[in-house]
Amino acid sequence: MKLLDTHGRHINYLRLSVTDRCNLRCSYCMPEQGIEKLCHDDILTYEDLVCVARQAVAIGIEKIRITGGEPLVRRDIIRFLKELSAVPGLKQLVLTTNGLLLAEMAEDLFKAGVQRLNISLDSLKEQTFAHITRGGDVHRS
Ligand code: SF4
Repeated sequence: MKLLDTHGRHINYLRLSVTDRCNLRCSYCMPEQGIEKLCHDDILTYEDLVCVARQAVAIGIEKIRITGGEPLVRRDIIRFLKELSAVPGLKQLVLTTNGLLLAEMAEDLFKAGVQRLNISLDSLKEQTFAHITRGGDVHRS
């Protein structure tokens, strides 16, 4: 099955946001004090998200990008990614991250089936990065 938009273009790509939380506080994205925490019942569970992914793949989605907030701060994300990468018919699982947790998680992400990463990095200049992210350390990204 092929999903087409109103201009006849093939849609095969879905972005799934798994959290609104983040370990940075970029000034263009969220308030300095962070955002009010949603309660568990107000966000989709991993089971819900896998169900959405299965349905999406069934109608033509081939590539899923995981985003947030910062997806790596959500608990048990590796377990979820393993389940997602096993969805029959999904050809590509990719993830966007700010990179802060990559040093400790990169190998597990690879083993879970993540094929590509996008790393959001606003600046390589220490002070500029700290300013934009309100205190982030570019050397950890
Ligand atoms: S790293 Fe991304 S999600 Fe986190 S505060 Fe910055 S822009 Fe927002």
